[in-house]
Amino acid sequence: MYKMQSPRFIQSNNRGILASLPLAPEEFPMKLATFTHETTRIGLVEGDEIVDLEAAAPELPREMTALLAAGPDALQVAHAASGDGARLPLAEVRLEPPVLRPPKFLAVGLNYADHVAESGLEAPAHPTIFNKQSTCVTGPGDPIHLPRASHVLDYEGELGFVIGRRCRHVSRDDAADVIAGYLVVDDVSVRDWQLRIPTWTMGKSFDTHGPIGPWITTADEVQDPHRLDLRTWVNGELRQESNTKELIFDCFTLVEHLSTAFTLEPGDVIATGTPSGVGIGMKPPKLLVAGDVVRIGIEGLGEIENTVIEEPEHSGGIR
Ligand code: ZN
Repeated sequence: MYKMQSPRFIQSNNRGILASLPLAPEEFPMKLATFTHETTRIGLVEGDEIVDLEAAAPELPREMTALLAAGPDALQVAHAASGDGARLPLAEVRLEPPVLRPPKFLAVGLNYADHVAESGLEAPAHPTIFNKQSTCVTGPGDPIHLPRASHVLDYEGELGFVIGRRCRHVSRDDAADVIAGYLVVDDVSVRDWQLRIPTWTMGKSFDTHGPIGPWITTADEVQDPHRLDLRTWVNGELRQESNTKELIFDCFTLVEHLSTAFTLEPGDVIATGTPSGVGIGMKPPKLLVAGDVVRIGIEGLGEIENTVIEEPEHSGGIR
């Protein structure tokens, strides 16, 4: 029985030449996705297929935050399910935000030296943390709304990380233990709403302005989160090109900083900041308009691609 093997000897399709080598204990390299195929549930992405965990491991939670909260034993079961046959073609499912409704969705302003330079602001002494409301989260292929209230719409390609363990007062040295994995974030920004008042929450939180995905690449599969190429294209034109080694405050430093003040919980998403090349920083500015296609890719984590549309008529009302 494949599932009964020690996790140290479970093979992964994602490790290439390393696939036949034993993993360290409690290492579960995976791409964890939330998808819809009649119902919404979670699965493992392997190549152009998705392993349906509802069928392959029915004892597991069907929702990402609950799976992460269930801890390493649950992740081991999920990883073992990769050998099972309950697969769907990736092309036949709709990828949802890997975490549908993060308990917290935080972001960091001015965290790349080149972006600080283009903003004309001072390099920060402390991480500039702000909230994106978790209601702005949307899927890796979903549309971004050009709001009725403002057309000063911009993209920000970013590395995000997802918390896997409930924690507080985590040192930088221990921070890797509480990060479940990494994903791509577009920290979509309404610049006039962002900058006309001292706090950025309003301009960063319009509905649909938090595309995340395409899935969570678990920390065990990411050799070094601080050495990943990041690129953003708009309509195929390369706008942002950097590497996460340029982060001023890296993921582990951010975990220490955030958890000094408050508890981090499974499913929390933290976007780490954007490099130079945002639309507002260009001369003249190149803001997003309806029909634009924003594609963001991070080495090893995949790509998200979101099309800008006019905010639909029916977006209002009491529901
Ligand atoms: Zn940002």
